[in-house]
Order: sequence, then C-alpha cells, then structure tokens
Amino acid sequence: MFIRSLLPWLPCLFLLAPMAAQGPENKKAEGEFQRAEKAVADARYTAAFSLYKQLASRYPNTVWGKMAALRTQPTAYLGWGDLQRHGASNNRVDVVLMGDGFALDDQNEFEDIARSAVDVFKNHKLLGEYFSYHNFVRINLTSKDQGVTGYGRTKETALGGHVAGDVQGQVGIDHGKAVQMLEMLPEQDGYAIAIVKAGSMGTGGGGIAAIGGRADDTLVHEWGHAFANLSDEYSTFTGHRGSPRSTINVSATEDLKQVPWKHFVAAGIPGIGAYRGADGRIKGAWKPTSGGCTMEDGVQFCPVCREAIVHNIYRRVDPIEAHSPPTRRDQAAALASAEAFQFEVTCMQPKTHALDVRWHVLPEGQAIKPADDSRLPDRGRRGKLQMLPGKEDSKGDNGVPIGNGRNKFRLTTRDLAPGRYQVVCRVRDDGKPAGQQWPWVVLDDGDLLQSERVWWVTVAPR
Ligand SMILES: [Zn+2]
Repeated sequence: MFIRSLLPWLPCLFLLAPMAAQGPENKKAEGEFQRAEKAVADARYTAAFSLYKQLASRYPNTVWGKMAALRTQPTAYLGWGDLQRHGASNNRVDVVLMGDGFALDDQNEFEDIARSAVDVFKNHKLLGEYFSYHNFVRINLTSKDQGVTGYGRTKETALGGHVAGDVQGQVGIDHGKAVQMLEMLPEQDGYAIAIVKAGSMGTGGGGIAAIGGRADDTLVHEWGHAFANLSDEYSTFTGHRGSPRSTINVSATEDLKQVPWKHFVAAGIPGIGAYRGADGRIKGAWKPTSGGCTMEDGVQFCPVCREAIVHNIYRRVDPIEAHSPPTRRDQAAALASAEAFQFEVTCMQPKTHALDVRWHVLPEGQAIKPADDSRLPDRGRRGKLQMLPGKEDSKGDNGVPIGNGRNKFRLTTRDLAPGRYQVVCRVRDDGKPAGQQWPWVVLDDGDLLQSERVWWVTVAPR
C-alpha cells in the first residue's frame, strides 16, 4: 500500500539538472528511455537491452543516456513489469519477484520461475483464498555471474546471493540490495521474493524471502518468515543460540495461559496446545500444534500462523475497495435532501466466501466518529471501530448484492423525521471460507477484518 516516489533518483536528477536542461535532445532521450522500459514491461528483454544501449551511445550526456548506460552493465536493473495485477497497489499486497544470477539471456527463464511462484500462491489453501488481495510484479535484474558467493568463491550477482544459514545449500541475499531494487518501483510494500538461480532452499525475514532454484513449498515457508515474521516450528538444525523467546508461533513457555496463542486455547480450537520442539531447538521452545505446519515441514499453515497471515494481509488491504457517492464525514457537508439516496460499496472478494455487508441509518444524536483507514499504510494504526448505538453491529440492512463484490443500499426519506442522519456501511470478513468449521481469525483486536464508510444526509421538513 506504500506509495514510493522515485526518491532514490532525486539526488541523481538534481546533480544532472544542468545537463537535463538541453531541450529537444533530452526530450528525445526520455521518449526512447520510456520505449525501452515499455519493452521490459512487455517481456521483450533483448529488445529493451538494445534500446538502452543505443540510447546510451546516442545521448551520453543526458540524464536518460546515463541511466540507460547503467542498465546495460553486466550486473544491472533492467526494468519491471506486472505478472498478475488484481487492483491498484494502494489496496493490495504487492509481491515483487526478482532474480539473482540470471543473465540477459536468462530473463525468460526467470519469468517462468516467477510465474510459477505466482501459481504457488494461487494454489495454496490460505494464500489462494486471498489471492485477489495480492499483486505480483517482476523486477528484471541481470547478473554478470551465475552462482552464489561462498565456499571460497566470490560471484558478482545483482542481489549478492550467498551461502547462508545452517543447512547445506541454503541461500540468502543482500537485504539492502533487494530493498534498493524495490525502491526503483513507483509503488511497493517492501515485500520481495528473490529467486536465486544457482541456490537451493531459502531464507526469509524483514519483508524479503530468498529461494533457490524453482518455486515450491519452500516459498510458502520463507514467505511466512518474510511477510508475517513467523518463526520456524522445526526443532532440528539446532544452530539457534541464546535463550528462546516467544514470538507469534513459538512460545518460551508451555503454560497454556501464557502461550502467545492462548486465545486459540480459550476458544477451544481443536488440536491447539503447546508442543515441545520449535525454533530450531529441542528444548525450551514450544509450537502450537503437534506438527505439519509449513513453518515446520508441511505445506499448509497451522491455525496460529494462518491467523497471523490473514491479519497481515488486512493491515494492507481495506475490505472496502471503493464506494460512492464520495463520503461526507463532515456533518456540515451532508448530502442535500432528496426523496431517496443511493449508496454503493465494492468489497474485496476472497475465493470461496463473501464479505458481510451491513447498512445502518443513525439519527444525528447517535452519530459515531467515522474511522478513516482508506489510505493508511498500516490499517493497524486505525484501532477498533466504534460500537454502534444499541450494540446493533450484527443487525442492519444487508443491502442488495449486484455482483463483482458490489453492494448497493437505497435510503428513502419518506418515513424519516426531518433532520440529519448518518448512513454507516460496515463490511466484515468473518474469516470462514467454504467448508471451514472454525474461523481462520479467532481474535481481531483491532477490527482489521472490518471497515466502514460513513455519509451524512439531510431530510428536509415537509
Ligand atoms: Zn504454524
């Protein structure tokens, strides 16, 4: 949801400003630069490279020529394109795929692997349920060398892929380099999956996952680390030192009243307890289930990890995608009196379940303070929604679903006394996909799975 400007370029553009003032030549160079970038977006990689090369030699003194020269280095940022776009970046989790150790000629291979990573999301039970909440973008990087640094060799690659961790073949990348590449995009959320051509297995954390070779279940495990700060639930590979500490899915105590997932225990969700062995340790660390979570060695997330992933998706994605007319939060800007008002919201659409929509009409004396989270980079900062008067949150009018997540509500003023009213639309994800007995989210402290829109209307005296 974060909108990043071209900030990293600013100092560079500033320094080159006198040269940029060269008029027609600069204009031509800019046009050609955009053509080259378009070629990358269209997956015409060799054509893009030739265009950059041509531009760099034709207009070497323009800012565009200089940037084009950088992009034709043996190790370089080439450009970006969409793999799968579901909506505007400001209301999606933007997942950026980038490759390490791929030469110019390997870009189609990288794209194939990147597409298979998108399929891993699509076919996964949890990530697939919320597939449409994500966008997938590729950043094309060229690397001089193939392979990873380690075992006494040094390789020059775009993301500095290297041998990492305790396990033979496990790869990591230079986090700072990945972040730099992310910042080349007009919009991104700080999340990337780096595909290291010559590596195997992976690492993940702080928004960035690295996987070696082709995309498979390793990807989901590393995404759990990168996206939701989940810990390992396996007890082998005991390279972890220091005293264990509690995280979302690992507990330093087996006391069920104190484990981080105690709300699952209290809710009586079957199979949840405190099971010894987690976080790469046999002793002193407990996990929520007896086994099988993807943060251990399974394919699906356990209920505790699943809740954390859904929470994190909703930190970035507002369940209400669009609304009309524009909201009137301000009482003074109430919609003028009319016989009837039409309101509409467009909701996000998980794969197998629909979000719950409720419309409420409140007299001025019961008005609530509208919560505005439509453009917060982290919706978690909004806090809980205000309780509706009479605790009637669960009541209200369901409106009329008209397809594609749209729901409309018609308010006729005939039966209302003259005065001002608030029209409140609340949308909620109950976290219960088709066939699920238990909700995927047991505790929603900050009402992340809910959103609202509020309008003021005036009913004139008759
Ligand atoms: Zn788990």
